[in-house]
Amino acid sequence: MARLSLDKVEKVYPNGFKAVHAVDLEVRDGEFMVFVGPSGCAKSTLLRMIAGLESISGGELRIGERVVNELAPKQRGIAMVFQNYALYPHMKVFDNLAFGLRLAGVAKAEVASRVQHAAKLLEMEHLLDRYPKQLSGGQAQRVAVGRAIVKKPDVFLFDEPLSNLDAKLRAAMRVRLTELHRTLRESGQPATTIYVTHDQVEAMTMGERICVLKEGVIQQLDTPIALYERP
Ligand code: ADP
Ligand code: ADP
Repeated sequence: MARLSLDKVEKVYPNGFKAVHAVDLEVRDGEFMVFVGPSGCAKSTLLRMIAGLESISGGELRIGERVVNELAPKQRGIAMVFQNYALYPHMKVFDNLAFGLRLAGVAKAEVASRVQHAAKLLEMEHLLDRYPKQLSGGQAQRVAVGRAIVKKPDVFLFDEPLSNLDAKLRAAMRVRLTELHRTLRESGQPATTIYVTHDQVEAMTMGERICVLKEGVIQQLDTPIALYERP
């Protein structure tokens, strides 16, 4: 479990464009934080800096008590879920879930137990023997989420994970992911989450707090109810 803090975090791209301007933010331990805003407001830049996929030009990024500015993605204790799922097509679901753990040298029994636990949480025990091409879009997205859960990260990062799904499935997955977050937190497992979306309904229904970004600065940061009452 861990909180995540940004202290005057900046991003200047190599072409000189300043995409993020001295952002201060604290995501509380176990909190579900949504980043929302129009295309180009720097949602992905911020998320990618937190993940370690993009360098930080200034300021300090901490996960728990650790400054992670210079750490490789694998050393940060984060797990990221992408919109394109990024499943390995030649591996069964079980192995898609297990692969990263096996690489990290996690013992076989522990791998199996974490995979079963994630499969149960996401109600996909019956899918473990399938290949990705045998899954629906919603099922594939659950596997992608499961792959993050088995890692037991300090922080979950979601990058527009539902944008490839149709409206009905998207609504169902919003509920499922919200419930999953609550289940993890209530059972004392790591649950700190940053969820990026350009969809205001997603932001308002899923976020415990919402960080509204505009042109690389935080424009508003509040609960959905407060934002609704004072838009
Ligand atoms: P969002 O995810 O909110 O759509 P991005 O984080 O992708 O926004 O982009 C934020 C701003 O940074 C945009 O103006 C974008 O054009 C710019 N940007 C993104 N990547 C690069 C890059 N590699 N070089 C220069 N500018 C970039
Ligand atoms: P090995 O390490 O010898 O390959 P594993 O125990 O890792 O053996 O599993 C062999 C195959 O069986 C895996 O590739 C996986 O697809 C499948 N498998 C293993 N455990 C389960 C499980 N609990 N549920 C479904 N499939 C499983």
